[in-house]
Amino acid sequence: MKINFDKYADGLVPAIIQDAETQQVLMLGFMNPDAWQKTQQTGTVTFYSRSKERLWTKGEESGNFLELISAEVDCDQDSLLLKVRPHGPVCHQGTDTCWGEVNESHYGFLSQLEDVIAMRLEEGDTENSYVARLFSKGINKVAQKVGEEAVELVIEAKDDDQEAFLNEGADLMFHYLLLLQTKGYRLEDIVQTLRSRH
Ligand code: AMP
Ligand code: ZN
Ligand code: ZN
Ligand code: ZN
Repeated sequence: MKINFDKYADGLVPAIIQDAETQQVLMLGFMNPDAWQKTQQTGTVTFYSRSKERLWTKGEESGNFLELISAEVDCDQDSLLLKVRPHGPVCHQGTDTCWGEVNESHYGFLSQLEDVIAMRLEEGDTENSYVARLFSKGINKVAQKVGEEAVELVIEAKDDDQEAFLNEGADLMFHYLLLLQTKGYRLEDIVQTLRSRH
């Protein structure tokens, strides 16, 4: 892998550190050729610290090492994207990321939808909310609804009505998310289970 360390006057290349599992961006550090070589040799991320003015293995005091999973250079070879498995909170202020965020998986719009469902369940407005109403009927009703939507999807799978197939798929997904929360789970728990089988 070719890295253009001469691009910047100080000979340092920025390295974006991303959690290989959750995809969360954890921190930003800088590397010189020695830091990069040590990182490759040890499989643990070592930066060049501008404040310490020496090689700095992240975690050398705290024990919160960054285990290297993969590395890529960008389009013009002047920045690195390092995917890691962090052994603890990355920021010296104690937070998971250097931007004060929690390190968790994000499933895009599905996560937004999970948040809306959670809000509806908390509000419990059974008059105005379909989600709250179905939830209030109990777990068996929610589970039954998932079963119904699954059957509808099976039926549409045999047909050529593409729109109906997509709609039933969405229905199933939505009620599945609701069933998960009715049991106190989220998509993340299912993904973890899938991951552990891998
Ligand atoms: P550590 O490498 O985790 O053992 O931390 C050693 C020292 O490096 C800390 O006391 C901070 O001064 C500094 N440090 C640790 N983590 C970070 C970080 N994410 N960003 C900037 N400085 C850090
Ligand atoms: Zn670039
Ligand atoms: Zn920090
Ligand atoms: Zn349906």
